Amino acid sequence: MNILDNIRVVLVNPMHGGNIGAVCRAINNNGITDLAVVDERPETDWNEARKLACNAREQFEAIKKFDTLREAVADCTVVAGTSARTGFYRDTSYPVRDFAPIALESAKEHKIALVFGREDKGLFNEELALCSHIIQIPTDELYRSLNLSHAVYICCYEIYTALGIFQPSEESAEEANSDLRERMFDLWREMMTETQFVHDQKLDHMMMGLRRIFNRGKLTVPDCKILMGLAKQSMWVADQWRKEQNKDKKMH
Ligand code: SAH
Repeated sequence: MNILDNIRVVLVNPMHGGNIGAVCRAINNNGITDLAVVDERPETDWNEARKLACNAREQFEAIKKFDTLREAVADCTVVAGTSARTGFYRDTSYPVRDFAPIALESAKEHKIALVFGREDKGLFNEELALCSHIIQIPTDELYRSLNLSHAVYICCYEIYTALGIFQPSEESAEEANSDLRERMFDLWREMMTETQFVHDQKLDHMMMGLRRIFNRGKLTVPDCKILMGLAKQSMWVADQWRKEQNKDKKMH
């Protein structure tokens, strides 16, 4: 059982279809698929919602609808209300990053809910009273309230990253060994002389600089091959140029 399958996102009385669609996409980006809408509004533009859901079409079709928040969270242990405001018992709220491990611990065995309020009025006190936890997304006091779908994204993102399952893509090319690196440096040394980039007395100094630059990151086998190819081609061009010059001299 995937822990993320136990996390339900609940939107209470949302206004804008566009936000509902954006939420479908946001939760799917973070591996969450259980979405409920409570007390839907007759004026909600569901076409706009479908558009904003983009490729989260399946998610959009799977939205569960409930009349009350109480019904939507009935099977959940942790019920976390989100709020941008202070006051009521929001003062004991958790910053969302601190809440993420609590959510994951419970979701190992139980359904849990993340509850989001209306765009215009947030969650009412009686709705917050149903919540076992209150979570807050840190913001500047200049403007505390996030767009609904952004708030959902950040909460789901914190939980997803806390799970630690994301694997960043790794360099697949083999790392160059010292022998290949030294052959590359030899060619560059030769190239810097052949192209008259540096005079002999400055060559060692320049090589030190070059080594420092190239050793700043890991050099792979293909990296070294590119650098060797570049050095060889530069020497070939320098040679052609010298031949042209000699020809000119002979003609004059
Ligand atoms: N005008 C409303 C804000 C609604 S924003 C108010 O004053 O309460 C819509 C919903 O996004 C909120 O109900 C909450 O669920 C979530 N949200 C927005 N900003 C948030 C924040 N800083 N922390 C936690 N949740 C937030």
